[in-house]
Amino acid sequence: MPYVPIPALSRAKLTELAETRWRRVREARPDLEPALALQKRLLGHVLDAAVVLDGGRLPRLSLPGKYLAAKLGRGVPALAGEPIPLPVAALAPPLLQCCEALAAGGAGEAAEHIRSAIADGAIDAASLLTASLQRDQAALRTAAVHRGLSPDLLWLVAELAVSPFVHALQRLLLGGATADLDAALDRWDRGYCPACGSWPAVAEVVHGHRTLRCSFCAGAWELTTYACIYCGDAGEKFVTAAPNEERKDRRVEVCSACGGYLKTIDLPELSAFPLLSISDIETTDLDVAAMEHGYRRPALKAFAKKM
Ligand SMILES: [Zn+2]
Ligand SMILES: [Zn+2]
Repeated sequence: MPYVPIPALSRAKLTELAETRWRRVREARPDLEPALALQKRLLGHVLDAAVVLDGGRLPRLSLPGKYLAAKLGRGVPALAGEPIPLPVAALAPPLLQCCEALAAGGAGEAAEHIRSAIADGAIDAASLLTASLQRDQAALRTAAVHRGLSPDLLWLVAELAVSPFVHALQRLLLGGATADLDAALDRWDRGYCPACGSWPAVAEVVHGHRTLRCSFCAGAWELTTYACIYCGDAGEKFVTAAPNEERKDRRVEVCSACGGYLKTIDLPELSAFPLLSISDIETTDLDVAAMEHGYRRPALKAFAKKM
């Protein structure tokens, strides 16, 4: 069952789970405290937006199961190239709030500049959110550079603000699947997300099941093969290692065929949206270890606009 549906949880339950996990991370890594405080603020804004979206602002999409199944069969993610109307009124507030949180949490003026550019209309919120939803890094980078803004930070705030919407779309499209779509999802053996096409942030391993977790929509899928998720190499060049001998529950898969790496972490259960970012933040030492050895996460995959 490669696509793994994750039950929706109440905001109270999510908050409780997040607090427990943050406490544990803080105990192991007191140095992460400022990063965790910022994450808590950001996730609060993301959750606020998710609650507004739950109130029924999802668009009606005419993407039949047969159509999506054929698309997936060609290796194209469900949302790629689809013109999807964004609920800008619901997503603009978190966009500004995330800028404020980042400005106060260490990103300083760079985040403040982005906030004012959005607030005074120098950057159009709708275009920004659309570029993020369409995973159009080039458009967003150009927009940032022309206005003297940090491209990475602009990408991050847009991603945070759109994440509750793309998460809801992912559940809507892939969760209520038809037989055709189910079969296509069962055959999905790619390293990128079947919903939005992003690479996973981490693999979460629950009871021995290695589940890839999308860094954007939090989609969850399992591969039938144990190989590099980027290039498919399963030979000697693909190695799984635990940088810390005493923490074998936290590993990194590295591939010297393509130079990519993937963090994996053992957990009692898969993280519900938006708590996946906690798995990501608590494994930043694995990113450092992998990058010190010259490995990297590849760029986003581009999909032809019309396929
Ligand atoms: Zn995704
Ligand atoms: Zn590889």
